[in-house]
This record gives sequence, C-alpha cells and structure tokens, in this order.
Amino acid sequence: MPIMMPMIATPNQSSRRCPWKPEANSAPCTPPSPTPRRSAHSGMVKSGSVTLPFSRTEDNRRVPTYRDEVVILRTHKLGEADRIVTMLSRRHGKVRAVAKGVRRTSSKFGSRLEPFMVADVQLYQGRSLDIVQQAESLGSYGTDIAAHYDRFTSANAMVETADRLSDSEATPEQYLLLVGGLRALSRGEHVPRSILDSYLLRVMSLSGWAPSLDDCARCAAPGPHSTFVAQLGGLVCVNDAPAGSPRIAERTLELLRALIRGDWEFIDAASPAESAAAAGLVGAYAQWHLERGIRSLSHVSDIRGEGAR
Ligand SMILES: [Zn+2]
Repeated sequence: MPIMMPMIATPNQSSRRCPWKPEANSAPCTPPSPTPRRSAHSGMVKSGSVTLPFSRTEDNRRVPTYRDEVVILRTHKLGEADRIVTMLSRRHGKVRAVAKGVRRTSSKFGSRLEPFMVADVQLYQGRSLDIVQQAESLGSYGTDIAAHYDRFTSANAMVETADRLSDSEATPEQYLLLVGGLRALSRGEHVPRSILDSYLLRVMSLSGWAPSLDDCARCAAPGPHSTFVAQLGGLVCVNDAPAGSPRIAERTLELLRALIRGDWEFIDAASPAESAAAAGLVGAYAQWHLERGIRSLSHVSDIRGEGAR
C-alpha cells in the first residue's frame, strides 16, 4: 500500500528587515553592535547603557509559547528520535514544529502526533521551527481511517490538499472543514470518495476558486450550459467550449452543486456511475486549480470498483 510521504519543503522564511531600525528599512541593514539582534515584536530594548547579552534567559522573557487546536497533516523523521510535524491549526495557519523524542516507545505524546489526528497542542516559538511541548488528543481519527484503504487514500488526498494552502488561505474555516471531513471518513458516514470530492470543492470555494456551475466561466453568459472544462474554470457556453468537449449530464451537474453545498441526502442517493462522473470532473478541476496537482488523488480508488458503502 503506497503511503504518501512527500518531501518536506525548505522552510519558507521571509527575509527579516532590520528589526532594530523599523523606521529605516531602506537603509543598509547592519546590526548596531553590540546590541543583539532582536525580533521586532519582542518588546525588549536597551536599558540605559547596559546592553543585555543575547541569551536563553532573554529569550524566555518573551514567553514565546502558544496553544492551538491542530490537525496533523504529515510527519517527517528528524535525527534519532524526533519528528518534524506539519499541522493545520485553527488560529495560526499552517505550523511546522519539532516533536522531540516522539519516536521512542516511552514518548508521552508520540501517538497523538500522527497524520489525521486532531490535537490541542502547546508550542514553543523557536527561531526556525517551533517545538511541541504538550499534545492532548481531541480526535483519534487515524486508526479508523487507516483500517480502510479507501478512507485512507481519501484522507491522504485531503491532508495533502490542506498542506497546499498558502498561509493566507489557511483560515479557521479551512481547519474546521478538514476536521469535519476526517471525522466523517473515520466514522464511515458516506462513500469516502464523495467526502473527498465535497472537501475538495469546498476547499477551493473557500479560497475563491469555486468552479462556475451556472454562468459561463469565460464570458459570464448566463446558463444553463452543458459543457464543463476544468481548465477553463467550470461550465462554458457553446462559443467558449473547445471543439469536441464532452457534455455534462444534468444529474452530474446537480451532484456537483450538492457536493459544494454538502447536501448529503442528495449525494448519498446518487448512483455509483453519477458519483464517478462527478469525481472525474472534481479530480480534473482540483488537479488543474491546485497547480502542482494532488499526488494522492492518483491513489484514490475508482468509485465504481468499490461500490457504495
Ligand atoms: Zn462564454
């Protein structure tokens, strides 16, 4: 069974701009020796002629810890016993942090920091990566998801999609959407592929990339239209549809609308063939609009092969 373990990208550190001279960012950025380099929000200043050394004690006075609820998106081994954990948090966007000693069997919170888990964590703000200090489980969805291949592949595609969100897109709404999706997967509430498709459409809607399902995506001519072209943004009119584009069935279009609304009565009543048609369009649309593509989508089972559950 292929387990997706994408490479960790280099931390995207924004270049710091003269924090000791906020009023003169265009000036050459040289630290005024011997005053230590401080972050702009530390609130620490030179007191009289005494310059505090840059020390751990001074760091600690910033009380740089914070708590948040998080979903674990992926983990990456670090050294002998540590892990780097990538999380989508409720209030702090995406967070990458080091969890020390979690790969030892004696670790207190190692099992709470596995993919698909929801946890309340306390983090210490490090200089490059934060450090997980505590983790309390809020939702152990991982076991029930991993026990079913189709749930597992859908969950993988969901966390990979969440991992693609930019910092400005990683809102509390995205956090709640992901938690709701993983919870539904773990409980087997609906066909896993439908949970994934609804999640993908709603992720893109929240980020302002909802497919056009009424007016033409190119010229905004009012519908109804019957050609869906993922690369053009959804439904397009006859003038904008490339020659030979396949037509979308009315039921498939209705199903796409239901997936965006989260209308599960309608979604659950769809036939496997209708669900498969919608899944193909959602997959193509998501691949195109999330630019780099969602690798995990290629592992999601064909909905016709597994039947509705
Ligand atoms: Zn048009």
